[in-house]
Amino acid sequence: MSRRLNPTEIFDVIVVGGGHAGCEAALTTARLGLSTGLFTLNLDRIAWQPCNPAVGGPAKSQLVHEVDALGGVIGRLADETALQKRILNASRGPAVWALRAQTDKRLYANKMLEILQSSPNVALREAMVTGLEVEENSTIKSSNWDTSQGPLTKILGIKTYFGSFYSAKAIILTTGTFLRGKIWVGGQSMSAGRAGEQAAEGLTEALRSLGFQTERLKTGTPPRVDRRSICFSQLEEQPSDAANRFFSFDPNNWKSENQMSCYLTRTTSSTHKLIKDNLHLSPIYGGFIDSKGPRYCPSIEDKIVRFSDKESHQIFLEPEGRNTPEIYMQGFSTGLPENLQLELLRTLPGLENCVMLRPAYAVEYDYLPATQLLPSLETKRISGLFTAGQLNGTTGYEEAAAQGLVAGLNAAHLILNRPTISFSREESYIGTMIDDLVTKDLREPYRVLTSRSEYRLILRGDNADRRLTPLGYRLGLIDENRWEQFKIKQIALEKEKYRLENQRLKASDAAAKIFESKTKAPIKGSITLANLLRRPNIHITDLVTHGLADASLPLPVQEGAEIDIKYSGYLKRQKQQIDQVKKQSQRKIPININYSNINTLSQEAREKLNRIRPLSFGQAAQLPGVSQADLTALLIWLKMNESKKNLHPKKNCR
Ligand SMILES: Cc1cc2nc3c(=O)[nH]c(=O)nc-3n(C[C@H](O)[C@H](O)[C@H](O)COP(=O)(O)OP(=O)(O)OC[C@H]3O[C@@H](n4cnc5c(N)ncnc54)[C@H](O)[C@@H]3O)c2cc1C
Repeated sequence: MSRRLNPTEIFDVIVVGGGHAGCEAALTTARLGLSTGLFTLNLDRIAWQPCNPAVGGPAKSQLVHEVDALGGVIGRLADETALQKRILNASRGPAVWALRAQTDKRLYANKMLEILQSSPNVALREAMVTGLEVEENSTIKSSNWDTSQGPLTKILGIKTYFGSFYSAKAIILTTGTFLRGKIWVGGQSMSAGRAGEQAAEGLTEALRSLGFQTERLKTGTPPRVDRRSICFSQLEEQPSDAANRFFSFDPNNWKSENQMSCYLTRTTSSTHKLIKDNLHLSPIYGGFIDSKGPRYCPSIEDKIVRFSDKESHQIFLEPEGRNTPEIYMQGFSTGLPENLQLELLRTLPGLENCVMLRPAYAVEYDYLPATQLLPSLETKRISGLFTAGQLNGTTGYEEAAAQGLVAGLNAAHLILNRPTISFSREESYIGTMIDDLVTKDLREPYRVLTSRSEYRLILRGDNADRRLTPLGYRLGLIDENRWEQFKIKQIALEKEKYRLENQRLKASDAAAKIFESKTKAPIKGSITLANLLRRPNIHITDLVTHGLADASLPLPVQEGAEIDIKYSGYLKRQKQQIDQVKKQSQRKIPININYSNINTLSQEAREKLNRIRPLSFGQAAQLPGVSQADLTALLIWLKMNESKKNLHPKKNCR
């Protein structure tokens, strides 16, 4: 059927939302040569960090490295704008080492804007998107549409609040916390996507009228304090310890400015008393809102209620920029009223006379449970409609950026008639996160964690380039220059590992005595440097100190060689486990099975499988409520039915 509206503009792809998901999505489609319109509510708030301007941390840093390995920008921007860098979990194994950067919030946003503005295929537009245009046959706007029969219809474009229509072959929604957003300070609320920014109207209703299910979540942010009103001499200083480490694998991005310190204070008995006395005034405890917030960023009220035996909680004071006095009070999110917040802050040592610049607040918003998506992040109901970021029920800039890249990549592939790209749990945290999102019935904001990956020893930050850059190059996301850098690094790494495996240290060498006493183990005759490295407490830096390794080799090469050698045994075992699981988990499951008819499945498994419709055994195994016994029953049923011709898998994923 022909269109009734004339498009104001025509793009290949339209991205709705200029947050972390939207920017990464738009830059990905643009990099693949597609004309991309990025529509956002406020062009002055591109890639804004409304909570802590910090990038990375456990598992999140692995995601950032992965996005960088695929040509995304979050890593290099975090490097360029870092105020302070630290390695978290440094005392533990490399699987959980994590780089974290406190970034300059305004600089980060400005640099992202510059990148977008200088991308030839990106057009920035300020507008509120309120509707979705789909092909006319979608008069079947039935919420009962069975997605196993394929998509209901095809996307044609977007409508804006002021009545314009823009057409595109693919649309990526990345609306963050804005859909029917409502912010709360104590018992007071107002319509807003985040403080100072209007909520998005209309889109939730548009999605619902197309049969999508939406739910509500919440998140919160702590108060900001004026640094000039803080007595820093009373606080514990936390200087940077990782200025020489980078998220980006591209050496051209390896620059660092002077680092700033963060500071540590603690809650006191006065803080705890004030909170306990006023608990009924917070929206959650007072019963004003009941949507779920992120479990891993609890409010200070939650911490005091849940850990009532703890006398004190750490609060970190983190700078938000070089040219702003704003200090972010990490660990001090609160739903208490504004007038109590200042009183509460002043119970903290060093903050007795502090000035509060912005109060803490919570935001409630609509999200789209991601079980309505394919692993490509395309919706099951509407061909060409993708969603990414907080809208899919996640929390965090890193999670959003990674999904943005995947949605952008697959939107481009759809248009270019190339195969869908889905990432597996074994190869990346990106794959782990998306698999969790599209298969699990998640009811609270999802944050990536190392414990979510069964392959965490393999999915490290240091090897994200080895895992993903060859794919990124094949897909056209990595340019020739980056590819050359990648090859140079891999050659240097292999060369160094070969040298360490073959060069020996004789027991008679002067350094041998030092290593013997450090490891409390004798060296008989001689030992390879690799075996020396496998001993506890010996690191490549020790070899450098004693002239047994080349100090001029880049840090990622030195450390990559050490990790590969030191953990080779564990890595081998984990690889074997992965291969075993892979054999079963990659086995496809047709999308159009009526699980209700499989009597050998438990009732719960039938319900979950009917609702989620996993595409493989690997996905089915992740579903809460689907046991190993159910998987065996399903396998037997499938084998018995393999000859039946009426099973038509909808789409092939990589
Ligand atoms: C109060 C608060 C507290 C937070 N706390 C945490 C935390 O503790 N930990 C954590 O990891 N993360 C936290 N976050 C979340 C973090 O900000 C997000 O996870 C991240 O920004 C999500 O990125 P996104 O791209 O999905 O969405 P956003 O960054 O929210 O960007 C959404 C974009 O979409 C645009 N938009 C929305 N609707 C429309 C429309 N209809 N038309 C046009 N444009 C539209 C907006 O203008 C915005 O540019 C918090 C966010 C807020 C607001």
